[in-house]
Amino acid sequence: MNYEDLINCMRCGMCLPHCPTYKETFHETASPRGRVALVRKIQEGELEVSERLLEFLALCLDCQACATACPCGVNAGELVAEFKCERKTREGLSFMEQLILRRLVPHPDRLERAVIPARLYQRSGLQRVVRRLGLLKMMPRPLERMEGLLPTLPPRSLRQSLQEITPAQGEERGTVGFFLGCVMSLVFAEASFATVRLLTALGYRVVTPRDQVCCGAPQMLAGDSVGLREAAHRNLAVFGRQPLESVVTDCGGCGAELKKYGHHLAGSSSAAAFSAQVRDIAELLAGQSERLRPLLGPLPLTVTYHDPCHIAHCQGIRRQPRELLQLIPGLQLIELPDADTCCGSAGTYNIAQPAMADKVLARKVASIRNTGAEILVTANPGCLLQLKAALATGGRQVQVLHLTEVLALSLDARQTRAA
Ligand code: SF4
Ligand code: SF4
Repeated sequence: MNYEDLINCMRCGMCLPHCPTYKETFHETASPRGRVALVRKIQEGELEVSERLLEFLALCLDCQACATACPCGVNAGELVAEFKCERKTREGLSFMEQLILRRLVPHPDRLERAVIPARLYQRSGLQRVVRRLGLLKMMPRPLERMEGLLPTLPPRSLRQSLQEITPAQGEERGTVGFFLGCVMSLVFAEASFATVRLLTALGYRVVTPRDQVCCGAPQMLAGDSVGLREAAHRNLAVFGRQPLESVVTDCGGCGAELKKYGHHLAGSSSAAAFSAQVRDIAELLAGQSERLRPLLGPLPLTVTYHDPCHIAHCQGIRRQPRELLQLIPGLQLIELPDADTCCGSAGTYNIAQPAMADKVLARKVASIRNTGAEILVTANPGCLLQLKAALATGGRQVQVLHLTEVLALSLDARQTRAA
């Protein structure tokens, strides 16, 4: 950890109103300023690491809203994450962490096999029975929460159903790599298929290497720096096999992590070059808006947009998704108040810290419902999972779609009109 980053905090408090956990508690220890002070005192040897102190730090969502607000460039979320990483490197992974982070997550085929029971659970009708009889209450709490978040799974992952090469429609204008993202491929295959459709409609040949692996974000979250670097090396090799104009992803979390490979593998020019090539789908499409506009047909919908933290705060992408939505004829975009405040998903935070996650989510849900929009658009699998589950119950239902799903609906509307 860079000590300079810690001492840069001048304790001005400008980050406080932007921090979701501070807004819920008004406790200094749950604020970015407080977290920076705690980590600094540990580094300076003035504080012992205790269970209570680790609990304070564990409450950070790593949403990085504080980094956007800080005039001194202090990123409290990243400092807390680095502190956890350094600690984990010293202590080593537990047996369970080894099993998940080293033996499961880096192997897409094993991940795909791991979701088969969940798919059978849904398709056999057992899920309906379990929910109707209220049997979820008998499950351990984390399992109950995970089950509640599970949307209907696609019959196959996108990695299994997509060809490695998807040809351009019409005249070919270039070749891009497509980074699948584990959750997007396993759970939101339809949204990622829409991403590929948009790219090919714009004349891109899309290369989706089947041997790509998880971006390393789960390893980073768990403090496994070795696993993270292994993932980065593997993806660099896989995407480096052929010249690509860009490496595109529709997963905000993956995009943010891929763009940090240059930092994680400091000194590697190929890692820096790869990171510079990575584009969130909204960045790439917004750069092609004049070519995209004539392909879009009318959608008479009222939508609002939630900025995923990993897209708005970590990658600075805010304008592009809104511009893309406004390209769609007939679509009305209503600005969501505090659109870039975390929804409480934050990787596995909603499982590990359910009480705080629920408070943060409740604010977001009320804000979305107040807009009166019929569709919430977002662009990150964690937000999709969290908000789909929350907006399907307990009040006016709001449909939740990935940005590329809305754009693909508009492509369909245009094609139907032309037919
Ligand atoms: S982290 Fe930044 S915004 Fe927050 S108190 Fe420190 S200097 Fe001010
Ligand atoms: S990363 Fe988010 S939760 Fe953590 S200190 Fe910053 S604003 Fe607060």
